[in-house]
Amino acid sequence: MSKLHLFFLPFMAHGHMIPMLDMAKLFTSRGVRTTMVSTLAFSDPIKKAQESGIEIGLIIIRLPNQESGLPEYVQRLDQVTAVDLVQKFVKAISLLQEPVEKLIQELNPNCLVSDTFFPWTTDSAAKFGIPRLVFHGTSYLARCASEQMRLHKPFKNVSSDSEQFTLPYLPHQLKFTRTQISPFDLRESEGEFAELIFQSREADRRSYGVVVNSFYELESSYADHYRNILGIKAWNIGPLLLCNNGYEEKARRGRKSAIDEHECLAWLDSKKPDSVIYACFGSMASCTQAQLREIAFGLESSGKDFIWVVRDRRNNENSYNFLPHGFEERNRKKGLIIRGWAPQILILDHPSIGAFVTHCGWNSVLEGVCAGVPMVTWPMFAEQFFNEKLVTEILRVGVSVGNKQWRTVGIEGVPREAVSDAVRRVMVGGEVAEMRNRAKCYKEMARKAIEEDGSSFTDLSALIEELSVARRSQYM
Ligand code: UDP
Repeated sequence: MSKLHLFFLPFMAHGHMIPMLDMAKLFTSRGVRTTMVSTLAFSDPIKKAQESGIEIGLIIIRLPNQESGLPEYVQRLDQVTAVDLVQKFVKAISLLQEPVEKLIQELNPNCLVSDTFFPWTTDSAAKFGIPRLVFHGTSYLARCASEQMRLHKPFKNVSSDSEQFTLPYLPHQLKFTRTQISPFDLRESEGEFAELIFQSREADRRSYGVVVNSFYELESSYADHYRNILGIKAWNIGPLLLCNNGYEEKARRGRKSAIDEHECLAWLDSKKPDSVIYACFGSMASCTQAQLREIAFGLESSGKDFIWVVRDRRNNENSYNFLPHGFEERNRKKGLIIRGWAPQILILDHPSIGAFVTHCGWNSVLEGVCAGVPMVTWPMFAEQFFNEKLVTEILRVGVSVGNKQWRTVGIEGVPREAVSDAVRRVMVGGEVAEMRNRAKCYKEMARKAIEEDGSSFTDLSALIEELSVARRSQYM
């Protein structure tokens, strides 16, 4: 019998595409045939994987820019910088249904692994009688929190935006304010993107199951809650990033770096172990200039050496002029500013890195966990406020910067003192030694989870077995 064949359909945002490619690599390494259907947005990293000898099939489909009125330059979600583009982007991805279904008919895969943002793939999979596995790209905790929020709406019981409420029925007493919850969870959002999210949730409930980029030991009570209380079929097969072993694979994840990687590592080599702060807020976040200045002052006054990644979603060179007067001269030896894309996992893995200031995007959190470094948590949007709780209150490997405001663009409101205080707490405070020890333990557990007989290895084996059995019934 031919190999089990999985079709992967990644969403066009780095936080979704990067782990899905890792997932395809992982399945390939376990003898499964894999094909990724991708728009131009992410074809380069897949081609690179192919060039390095990994047998992943690649089919490039065109994002229907013309048909949806989306300008040609927009190929990914982070390039959607104006409100009117959102509608066109959502339209464009819905138009992918027809070409994707043609491919399924032609190539006859046994399973569709779809990003949650393609809700129509539930119907496509049903049409061809194959299972649809959904990928959200986030933690079990965030999935559980979002579901309980939808079911019980605890934010309705508070009288003000700043009053805290506890999310009920979860394994821990997690407290939030309304301002930290996404408008989608509050059901206060309208428009195309909100509609897409609601459709996705409905489609996910009709899916075969969920693949989760996490490992059991990291959030066991939430993995159990998700499966046993919420009754959702799920397999934890992560951390997916650990399937990258070679230097090249680690250096070129997602995009080409804006800095020469060797130069960056040489700079880190010149520093003492655990002495440098790495600050990066993922691929989507966009802070105001005033907030960027506060970060600059905060990092400087922490007294610690730092690498700070600053991106501008509009690729506008002038918008890098926010730095306080004389900042770069004063910090020439102490700080490295990367304007654009950073080789994040190479940096995090370097022994000189002492802590990670992160926006709590799930990939970044996992990358921090796998590097064994304490974190300063600064959630901004999406499910990041949920992930923060895992880091600071459950794993206790991080300290919050104290952001209270969920916001996707124009992020601001955290003063320089909050930045420098949080940095000092993870670098020199009384809790540092214990926090570092715990972080090192989770790093160890992450590696064990993917080794033969580890929790993620075993879950992946069970999933492959189940899909193989399901395939036999497809032929009957
Ligand atoms: N990333 C990177 N270099 C950067 C910014 C981001 O390599 O300069 C990678 C990061 O390592 C992670 C992904 O992009 O794998 C971002 O995903 P995450 O879930 O952390 O955040 P998002 O971008 O979705 O907000």
